[in-house]
Order: sequence, then structure tokens, then C-alpha cells
Amino acid sequence: MTNTTDKAVWLEKLRAIDADPEMFDESEPCIPWRANLDKDGYPMGRWHGKKVRMLRVIYCLTRNVPISAIDGLVIRHGRCSDPTCHNFKHIRAGTIQENVADMMALGRQVAPSLLTDDQVIEARRIFAPFHPEHSASALAKRYGVDASTVHRAVMGQTFRDLPGARTPR
Ligand SMILES: [Zn+2]
Repeated sequence: MTNTTDKAVWLEKLRAIDADPEMFDESEPCIPWRANLDKDGYPMGRWHGKKVRMLRVIYCLTRNVPISAIDGLVIRHGRCSDPTCHNFKHIRAGTIQENVADMMALGRQVAPSLLTDDQVIEARRIFAPFHPEHSASALAKRYGVDASTVHRAVMGQTFRDLPGARTPR
């Protein structure tokens, strides 16, 4: 475990690294993870024999910092906000508070009324990751919204009052 001072020092270093467009560049497309996802839809993998959240490993390998550098920090997506995206240029380090602020900003940005109740119920029933017609992005195209809107509705992060969410919270 790192102490509070180390954490602040690392955070400052990582912010400088993430400010480099070679490291954080949202003009490139998303790269969805096609292997295991955890219950929240984040890429899971094995690294040094341990089950890990792959975004943390990918972040540290591409920034060339030890995994301990992000102890107590979170790896956040930028605008794409697609949990399955593992484009290393779409992620950056931040604090838990910043992550909460990201999610609140996203919640304000995406009006739940963009989807109808019927669409949400249907999406929860037929959603299948990477399916040509039933993936979040395919359904998004059909409903005329973006993939993260469909993903959040399917996972029950929005439309909490409707049944059938895949991982209700
Ligand atoms: Zn992305």
C-alpha cells in the first residue's frame, strides 16, 4: 500500500502523463474488450496469475508505471464512457471523487427519456454482448441513441423502476 503522500505524488505524475496526446486522445475509435467482463461490464483478465481488472493493467503498462502507482486511484474513461473499451488512449487516472463527478455529468448529459420503456424492456431481454444485432451498439443504432445509453439501461443504472436489468444495483 502506498501512503497518502505517495498517492498525491503519483496522481500529479499521472496527470502530466495523461495530458500528453500520445497517451490520451479521444479522436481514435473505441476498442471493445471481447473476452471476459466483470459484473459491471469491465474487462477482466489474468495477469501474473491473478484475476485483475484489465484497464488497470493496460493503463500501467502503457504509462510505464508500476501497478502500485494507481493504488487508491481509479481508471476512468473519457467521453466514450464505454466500460468495455480498452483503447489505452481513452482511459486516464483520477480520484474516486472525479469518477463520481464523471458519472454525475454523464447522468445529466444522457436524458433517460431518450429510450422508451418498451425499448428498455426489449433491450434487457435480447441484449447479447458482441452479437451483430443485439449488442449495445447494434441496439443503439436501432433506437437512435448511443451505445452507452443502451448499456446503462440494460445494466439497470438507468430505468431502475423497470424490470429485467442484467445486474440490478
Ligand atoms: Zn473508448
